[in-house]
Amino acid sequence: MSEDERATAEGMQTCWSDSTPGEIHASFSGHRTLCGKPVIEANPIYASRLGDITCSKCGGIAVFDEGAARTRVREVLDKWIAKGKLTPASATEMGNLAIDVFPGRAFTSRRKGHSWNKISTDFLLASGAATDKDASARFVGELGLAVFEGLQASEYQGKY
Ligand SMILES: [Zn+2]
Repeated sequence: MSEDERATAEGMQTCWSDSTPGEIHASFSGHRTLCGKPVIEANPIYASRLGDITCSKCGGIAVFDEGAARTRVREVLDKWIAKGKLTPASATEMGNLAIDVFPGRAFTSRRKGHSWNKISTDFLLASGAATDKDASARFVGELGLAVFEGLQASEYQGKY
């Protein structure tokens, strides 16, 4: 595990927001949750455990490095733009959406003990990318796998 990977989870505070009673979020600033909500109360760092986070969005941001996913997504997008199958604007939009949504889902699945192989396979089946052969299904499939690869490569190695 590199220093960078460890840093994704270190210094994290578990916290609460007014708008989501009972939900346990995570924060690095102590002012905003990682999912973007104002913090009303936060645990000190020493009393904050990744295992206490219940907000999947916060959990995904805390245990994965979005930058690693973003780099891989960029490669997929550039390839499809170069092929003339996507405009740069729609590619960027789809890439941002994937990076916004997938880390939280992966966080929830990994907590349930699912392997990365299962997560990828389930995604390909659910998105239709495993069965549909048209270009948009293949694109969605490649995009999803790129995000999961990046998340897997940067995953926090401790228990969460
Ligand atoms: Zn949250």
